[in-house]
Amino acid sequence: MPEGHKTHFYAREHTGWFSGQPLRVTSPQGRFRRDARKVSGIVFDHCEAVGKHLFYHFENDRMIHVHLGRYGKYRAHDAPPPPAVGLVRMRLVGPAKTLDLNGPTTCRVIDRQTREEVVGKLGPDPLAGGSSARKKAMVWEKIRSSKKPIGALLLDQSVIAGVGNIFRAELFFETLLDPRTAGTAIDEVTFDVLWQSLIKMMRKGLKYGKIVTVTAKEAGAPLSKLEGRDRFRVYGKATCPRCQHSIETIEIAARNLYWCPRCQANTTVG
Ligand SMILES: [Zn+2]
Repeated sequence: MPEGHKTHFYAREHTGWFSGQPLRVTSPQGRFRRDARKVSGIVFDHCEAVGKHLFYHFENDRMIHVHLGRYGKYRAHDAPPPPAVGLVRMRLVGPAKTLDLNGPTTCRVIDRQTREEVVGKLGPDPLAGGSSARKKAMVWEKIRSSKKPIGALLLDQSVIAGVGNIFRAELFFETLLDPRTAGTAIDEVTFDVLWQSLIKMMRKGLKYGKIVTVTAKEAGAPLSKLEGRDRFRVYGKATCPRCQHSIETIEIAARNLYWCPRCQANTTVG
């Protein structure tokens, strides 16, 4: 599932391709056809990312709300549009680019009020605009008052928006924090380290358009060239790069978390 760095990457990319142009919006598969008519032919303004959600704003105050979920996938083509491949839910056609979306969890046309309702349920998004200090204080307030494990709190989109299973695993490994530690047991210095590390990780993901947590030195290759699991330290790995112990998985918040139980034994860091 694309995490917050990727939605922000898409938002920038799609705004760059389509901003200021009327778009032809269709649904080759059919399921989005009725909604597509509400924005087709209207000038597109910009795409906004909030956590794992995307909002495509049009000049008639309507917007397309997309949540990719686990299976949603974009495919971009240079104009003219080729025949649709598979179940293309949404197709955006501009003068120079065509964008296809297959398999999203959500793809619908909404108004401003519905957007407010969706965003209102989300915690702060580290990559979105707004005061970083304020966002950090809001997340800290939720974490320090919850007895749930920090490994569950970070995946909870109402606590912090945009963190998924890969960022979660890589963040706890980098900080050597035990992901089972209760929110109430996290001290402020530890939270500060977690927040700073997370922001750094997410910004790097946005820059490269993919999550990269290893350094070029660790990888022995330029970061832009890394693919697949070579980009990670612990996610999907067999052996801990620090102690050579086996990497294990533990289920927290219904998702498997990769970790090294030997290295990640701390309840405080910093
Ligand atoms: Zn280890």
